[in-house]
Amino acid sequence: MPRSTSKSPAKKPARRAHGYVYAFGPGRADGDRTMKELLGGKGANLAEMCRLGLPVPPGFTISTEVCTHWYAHGRKLPVTLASEVEAALAQIEKTVGRRFGDPEDPLLVSVRSGARVSMPGMMDTVLNLGLNARTVEGLARTSGNPRFAWDAYRRFVGMYSDVVLGLKAHGEKSMDPFRTELERVKHERGAKLDTDLTVDDLRGLVARFLDIVKERTGKPFPTDPREQLWGAISAVFRSWNNERAIAYRGLNHIPSVWGTGCSVVAMVFGNLGADSGTGVAFTRDPATGERKFVGEVLMDAQGEDVVAGLRTPDPLNTLEKRSPKAWKELVLIQARLETHYKDMQDIEFTIERGRLWVLQCRSGKRTGTAAVRIAVDLVKEGVITQREAILRVEPSSLDQLLQPVFDPAALAAARASGRRLTKGLNAGPGAASGPIAFTPSRAIELAKKGIRAVLTRIETSPDDILGMQAASGILTARGGMTSHAALVARQMGRVCVAGAGELEIDYGDGTMTVRGRTLKEGDWISIDGSTGEVYAGEMPTGSSDVCAVLLEGAKPKRGSIWPAYKALLGWADDVRKLGVRANADQPDQGRAAVAFGAEGIGLCRTEHMFFGEGKIELVREMILAETSDERVRALKKLLPLQRADFAGIFRAMAQRPVTIRSLDPPLHEFLPHDDAAVAAVAKHLGLATERVRDKAEALREQNPMLGLRGCRLGILYPEITIMQARAIFEAACDVAAETKRKPKVEIMIPLVGTRAELDLQAEIVRATAEEVFAERRMRIPYLVGTMIELPRACLVAGDIAKTAEFFSFGTNDLTQTTFGISRDDGNRFLPDYVERGIHDDDPFATLDREGVGRLMRIATTEGRGTRPGLKVGICGEHGGDPRSIALFHELGLDYVSCSPFRVPLARLAAAQAALNSK
Ligand code: PEP
Ligand code: MG
Repeated sequence: MPRSTSKSPAKKPARRAHGYVYAFGPGRADGDRTMKELLGGKGANLAEMCRLGLPVPPGFTISTEVCTHWYAHGRKLPVTLASEVEAALAQIEKTVGRRFGDPEDPLLVSVRSGARVSMPGMMDTVLNLGLNARTVEGLARTSGNPRFAWDAYRRFVGMYSDVVLGLKAHGEKSMDPFRTELERVKHERGAKLDTDLTVDDLRGLVARFLDIVKERTGKPFPTDPREQLWGAISAVFRSWNNERAIAYRGLNHIPSVWGTGCSVVAMVFGNLGADSGTGVAFTRDPATGERKFVGEVLMDAQGEDVVAGLRTPDPLNTLEKRSPKAWKELVLIQARLETHYKDMQDIEFTIERGRLWVLQCRSGKRTGTAAVRIAVDLVKEGVITQREAILRVEPSSLDQLLQPVFDPAALAAARASGRRLTKGLNAGPGAASGPIAFTPSRAIELAKKGIRAVLTRIETSPDDILGMQAASGILTARGGMTSHAALVARQMGRVCVAGAGELEIDYGDGTMTVRGRTLKEGDWISIDGSTGEVYAGEMPTGSSDVCAVLLEGAKPKRGSIWPAYKALLGWADDVRKLGVRANADQPDQGRAAVAFGAEGIGLCRTEHMFFGEGKIELVREMILAETSDERVRALKKLLPLQRADFAGIFRAMAQRPVTIRSLDPPLHEFLPHDDAAVAAVAKHLGLATERVRDKAEALREQNPMLGLRGCRLGILYPEITIMQARAIFEAACDVAAETKRKPKVEIMIPLVGTRAELDLQAEIVRATAEEVFAERRMRIPYLVGTMIELPRACLVAGDIAKTAEFFSFGTNDLTQTTFGISRDDGNRFLPDYVERGIHDDDPFATLDREGVGRLMRIATTEGRGTRPGLKVGICGEHGGDPRSIALFHELGLDYVSCSPFRVPLARLAAAQAALNSK
């Protein structure tokens, strides 16, 4: 791990001069809330709460610098640390009046991890540290509760052996030897709960635990409290790089160079009897965002009992009766903390014999709905500004407000009962539950009966589109974030989990096997497109509030999130500089996009318009034509259909700009794949099956993505571009005559690499426009521009801009061609690349700033150099990715275009980009 980042606190002399250890105690602290980089969130907030005079047990935090040092220096701690820790420990001893390791009246500590941002449960913690055969007796005497003391010792040995000695790793996989032993003793004694065991049972258990440690590690359990302490400190730093933490960092884009802090805190005990307890409280409801104090408490327990699910906690407000004094104080403290931090707080507390201690506070994790409601409520309450509210909500969390959602209780139950089957890419957010349909026709059949299936495919192709439309969700074994399935699903607003590589689908047998479990067609599954998780069985879902209002015209329900959503996005629109358009190719998608706030269509993929019933055959007829005449015949049949499609789009978009792209797809997407499709095409064309098969074979390419696609199609077969341009202009004239308003038409030529290519196509478009305008005696203003999706196009953008009246970056292809990674196959190794840190992110999901971003900068600058004020947009999938949107703002693009359901996210991300760049 590198020693430090450019943001490293190590560069700030004032802090370095302080040393590595920051103490805190009643009413005082070396650190404060601003020092999260150095102390981690937990350490900084413990210090802050001490400064506020809240009841926090004394302790100290070892800075994150030590973690980075530990990794950079062969897992060695800085030499000066030992004396600093001794001094801080002495200070705790003085405050609580107990000594660490004292056999008469021992001080026990907890050793806790805590990174700059909270990573709940990902790293390790050790409680009750400082116990051995002598100190446990002292604790038994001073507490007057031997059972408690021996229980604490038992817990400590178990936890330390796991976290510090890695004991579970020494034993059989997934077997916890201590839990097995505990269960054995409970069984022997006929005890139901851990708390039913006697002091002698616990003594016996500790002895057995210590034996296990010796047997498995070959060394005795450390009895010296100082040795225990240093072992735990190193373990906390080690846990920064455990598998969970690495995975969590990957998901949440947390840099690995940050490191964790380590807080050593005097223990307070929630398991000292009925007047003690432990709990977690939220100043507002983290699920709904409602302003109510909620949480859970478990009496006579330590925090781990709650986390491990050993006992079920009670609602927080039961504390009012059980421990009225602590409750009253907690209510005051939560209000104070929320006012102080100006955000919803998650507070961990312990009550020791009626006395309240606060062990942690942090901004609470929350659902997307809660995030929006809390941010807007805090503005209304005068706590934060509108700008702060905009920055408070993670744009991608808005997905949760738009998609159908799983019932949270059902989800928890499914997880607990082992119904989780596997995980793929979270390609289309939301929740879907339905019977498995392995073929689009099965999904359609079921839809006709009112049953929405989960279309489950090895991968999808354009043939599947109607099945995708009919299904409630799509699950694929192959494909990445920009695979056909993912792209189309997002655009349609379908839930989608793509590239779930563990699925073995056998269409022949009609079965799907995953981790040894086999499901048949018709068996119910549930997929969570927001997390990528797949579950066996049915799970209830519901339409989101926001969609009901925006798309179904429903009246907002009482307590609906709708008003808060509307307010937040309104504020976002006021500050953003980037325009937001949508990728849409059907009128209903256009209407949805407008409802979600799109200002136009940034990409209408005309090939998608061919997916509808009766059209795909015509397209195949056109593709398989051997002569120009044959092709023109097929195109003539397509013309009225295309015209009607474009008219539908223009009507849906009214006066908003519509960018229509000429035919682009790699031909293999439209060629018949299997015998049945070949036979169907042959029948439609009245040709022999053999002939169609031969033609299809002749057109097959080794590398269709780099083959006869994009503008190359229109250059080789100009009649295609002529037909499309004619359909567009005729439709525009029809709609202008009908509505008395002229549509705003932008025609876009794909996959251009040289200006000559664009010139050829632009000429055809312009000539066709003149023909139509003459026939209709009407002119429609229009632009001809190009997609920029090849590195060469970026490098010669200045020349291309001589013809192009606008640019739109196709970052899917631009990423594919810049990296030389197939957008369809990259998922086979990209996850591994990301895991191993070769790439920070999947470049198809988050734009590669250094490479692709640099090409975009060159293209934008040089394009505008030739044509000042050139309109530049982006319509690749990155248009819906918040971090990429920040870059597009920085590059000075005019707009982003993304799938309709991502429009709200893009509006918010664009606003954040504008605020952050100020
Ligand atoms: C792109 O390449 O980014 C793009 C928008 O075009 P398509 O995904 O249709 O190739
Ligand atoms: Mg493209």
